[in-house]
Amino acid sequence: MTTGSLKTPDPKLSQFRVKGEIPVPLLINWLTAVAIPLLLFFAWRSSLRDDPVTSPLLVTIAVLLAINAAVFWFSGSKVAQRRGFIALITVLFTYLAVHAVEDGSAIIWLFAYPPIIFYISDARVGVLACAGGFIALLLLFSPLGDLIFSAPYSPGFRLTMLAALGFEMVTCYILDQSRRRSKLGLLKLAADFEYAAKHDSLTGLANRREALAQLDAEYQRYLRSARSFSVLLMDIDLFKSVNDTHGHHVGDELIILVARTLRGECRKIDTLARWGGEEFLALLPETETDEALKMANRIREAIARSAVPVDEHAVKATISIGAAGMRASESIDRLLQHADEALYRAKTLGRDQACAAEGENAA
Ligand code: GH3
Ligand code: MG
Ligand code: MG
Repeated sequence: MTTGSLKTPDPKLSQFRVKGEIPVPLLINWLTAVAIPLLLFFAWRSSLRDDPVTSPLLVTIAVLLAINAAVFWFSGSKVAQRRGFIALITVLFTYLAVHAVEDGSAIIWLFAYPPIIFYISDARVGVLACAGGFIALLLLFSPLGDLIFSAPYSPGFRLTMLAALGFEMVTCYILDQSRRRSKLGLLKLAADFEYAAKHDSLTGLANRREALAQLDAEYQRYLRSARSFSVLLMDIDLFKSVNDTHGHHVGDELIILVARTLRGECRKIDTLARWGGEEFLALLPETETDEALKMANRIREAIARSAVPVDEHAVKATISIGAAGMRASESIDRLLQHADEALYRAKTLGRDQACAAEGENAA
């Protein structure tokens, strides 16, 4: 049953974006736009040096980056865009390191890899990609790497590069974790605020504002599809005397008991709200007035059976209910007015009654 649209904060909140955060697809587009001219520039420089492999390879990667961007533009697939981008920069950085492009200085570009990977993918992929990259670099700098690739890096440079890159990867991981935690905290806070704005703190039912929003949504559905619905307005009988006799805290317990009984008696699709102090509203979708009246009587009997234990005795209460069904092209205000009139009639008939609005089946 609906007691407000947003319930407890979702564990998958991390997929939502907080204000000011750059969306991953946009960041990849920006990086692509910067990378393509850079790649073409270095391809041109390599072509002047009679390097038969580097120049065509850099041009190919620039073209593939452009294709990746174009595919995203047409398909809108963020996953494909991200995977394509990660694959291309991994190939590029591996080549820059192994082939010692630009007299070996291009290996410095590896420092761009960790922050990009951690930002555009989840933490697990970030850790795996960085660990894989680090191990690959270790192998490249090992005697085995020298045997296969004969990279021209000095021992001092190798040591500094490994230490600095390892340090950067760990720092990126820590910063990424703290960024993700702050984001989750912010989203959870926003979800908690939204929950509090829509719910009554004593009973956990929807509050009046949320009930009005749900009524409006149901009314819009009714206008579109003529799907009828009903409302029940409920008021605890002689509640003031419960407060006066047993104290306010017992009154509160009684309100909680009524809310719990309502939850037990209503369906999942119904919206239950605390309408006022000791007044409740149930919005019953796809329900005609006679069915609503039957439900009202079930609720009324269930509440009459239950009690709040106080010391040695039980404090019981009854409830009066007014039921009204949506009639052709009337407004929400008119519907609530009909339910209120029916509730008033239930009170004047002696309380512990359920009545339907005038012109509909009465109890
Ligand atoms: P009736 O059968 O005509 O409805 O009589 P009643 O005594 O229930 O009606 P009345 O409107 O005179 O009293 C409602 C009381 O509900 C008055 C108010 O102090 C009490 N009330 C409103 N909100 C709360 C609440 O959150 N907790 C408690 N304990 N009492 C509340
Ligand atoms: Mg009242
Ligand atoms: Mg009352």
